[in-house]
Amino acid sequence: MGIVVQKYGGSSVATAEHIKAVAERIKKAHDAGSSLVVTVSAMGKTTDRLLRLAGEVSREPSPREIDQLLSTGELQSVALLAMALHDRGVAATSLTGPQAGMKTTGRYGSGVISEIRPDRLRGLLDEGQVAIVAGFQGENALGDIMTLGRGGSDTTAVALAAALGAERCEIYTDVDGIYTADPRVVPGARRIPIISSEEMAEMAWRGAKVMHPRAVELGALYGVEIHVRSSFSEEPGTIIREGKKMERLETRETLAGIVHDLDVSRITLSGIRTGPGTMSRIFTPLAEGGVSVDVIVESAPKEGASDVAFTVGRGDYEKALKLAGEVAGSLGGEVEGEEDLGKISAVGTGMLNRPGYAARMFASLGKAGIPIRMVSTSEIQVTCVVPAGRVEEAVRILHEDFELEEMEERDV
Ligand code: ADP
Ligand code: ASP
Ligand code: MG
Repeated sequence: MGIVVQKYGGSSVATAEHIKAVAERIKKAHDAGSSLVVTVSAMGKTTDRLLRLAGEVSREPSPREIDQLLSTGELQSVALLAMALHDRGVAATSLTGPQAGMKTTGRYGSGVISEIRPDRLRGLLDEGQVAIVAGFQGENALGDIMTLGRGGSDTTAVALAAALGAERCEIYTDVDGIYTADPRVVPGARRIPIISSEEMAEMAWRGAKVMHPRAVELGALYGVEIHVRSSFSEEPGTIIREGKKMERLETRETLAGIVHDLDVSRITLSGIRTGPGTMSRIFTPLAEGGVSVDVIVESAPKEGASDVAFTVGRGDYEKALKLAGEVAGSLGGEVEGEEDLGKISAVGTGMLNRPGYAARMFASLGKAGIPIRMVSTSEIQVTCVVPAGRVEEAVRILHEDFELEEMEERDV
């Protein structure tokens, strides 16, 4: 039998009891003959707790030290899981990201995996051991530990599966698969048995936090089949894989789901002088400061001046406001921002060639009196920025108006 990579998220290893239950599940797969590499997240809300602690001891903790600190959450869970497996007679060794050969580059706090040297992992598998790798971390060229960004253990798992040529990557979480909307917000949301990596990546980028977007993209790039399942049940879950039946594109169901994201704020530069190079003057300092920008809207210039608005995550709000304020000042304009926003997106490759989705979405939100602050569209999604307090209501309304509850099973 081939190699299987399994990943258990924070809620799946939240307590000692949970860890023992995960060990039982691993033992079953191990006894059935699979060569297993397991990656785990920090227990429960450990990462949030550590981040809060950092904020309590320092006004502006250094990104390097934050990574040193956050990486310890995953170290606790791998060691505990190895102990629980030993108790069950399963040979297992826990490894930090660096011990497992995970090399990273980029910025602290949002490291990207540049290489995996899997010799040690292969050695453990050859001995019949279960290799347990700390998720969400690797080592940069300086030998420093780096984390991969919130939710990054999914990416660790898929990268390991790619590097080891695994049969599949199983993501165990607290829901039994990918749904047509967050099942905690829309109780009638439907599980999607199979979804294309293209749609899943879009859903993940737009805020469906059940999968880390970079994990989905890596899976697509390296042809890793990803199974998303519940660690608390035996339900079949969701399979994410390359869309194969694209020839039926025009006759298939059109929407994969409604996604929301509550981590949104808006910055507007108003009355700025525009011309060639203005956008670069605004966005280069943001990029250099490591701020990632999402929806961008520019108004038509009137008498040589226009408004440019964009969204950023709340964590980047203050920094973005300051950087954009400097540029706005130098262009004769002003900056203003709004923090408590959210995004709702309708996602589906079937939207290609079918006009009218945006109009339907605006009509539904308009009827409910939900104000739309910004809009962005592409071939496979329409996104509206709305006040944070109205986001969950908007998701439920759109899920109903687009009839996702009743929808027949879609082909991928
Ligand atoms: P883990 O700790 O296992 O990594 P996460 O909390 O990161 O788990 O992701 C699982 C959560 O993602 C679920 O509890 C669910 O509320 C949320 N979620 C958001 N959108 C979706 C969706 N479309 N389908 C399933 N779950 C979703
Ligand atoms: N523990 C990290 C986080 O909370 C990584 C993960 O869970 O995937 O973001
Ligand atoms: Mg997660």
